[in-house]
Amino acid sequence: MDRAYVFLDRDGTLIEDVHHGHRLEDYLLFPSTIDSLGRLRQAGFRLAIVTNQSGIGRGLFGLDDYARYHGRLLDDLSAAGLEIDATYMCPHAPDTGCECRKPNPSSLLRARAELGADLGASWVVGDHVSDVQLAANAGSRGILVLTGHGEVERPKLGSTPGTVVADLAAAVRHILAVPRRG
Ligand SMILES: [Mg+2]
Ligand SMILES: [Zn+2]
Repeated sequence: MDRAYVFLDRDGTLIEDVHHGHRLEDYLLFPSTIDSLGRLRQAGFRLAIVTNQSGIGRGLFGLDDYARYHGRLLDDLSAAGLEIDATYMCPHAPDTGCECRKPNPSSLLRARAELGADLGASWVVGDHVSDVQLAANAGSRGILVLTGHGEVERPKLGSTPGTVVADLAAAVRHILAVPRRG
């Protein structure tokens, strides 16, 4: 069965982007995240997280730090009844040329194969141009949020097709206002 997904960037989109965040004391969920994701679920979208964590490849923190920090987010969402179907995480430094780092579409192609994601009916929401490019590379639609690094990233969008909105709540309003594909 094909499914429409919203692929969510994590840092700067769902939670505060503290540089290479991995310490629980720095963890801060954005106030609108739970309500926003709830609206998407209610509308029938499924949810996954796609995140670049080059701090691991750079040796700034370990996989166990990542697991604890990411687990805190998943716990908070789960406590609100929000399941995340999958997290696709790239641990590599940018210069390794790996296939899993956004904007390479391998994460979304995996979601199509493993979760039955209908990429043409799906969205990517994030605060970096690479999130919007990921959408374009996978045949999905992209939204740049101006939280996190969004204001700095915005001028780099160039001709990348995508929508720019203030934050996750505005991204959700946009998604729910656009006719469904597929
Ligand atoms: Mg981000
Ligand atoms: Zn990678």
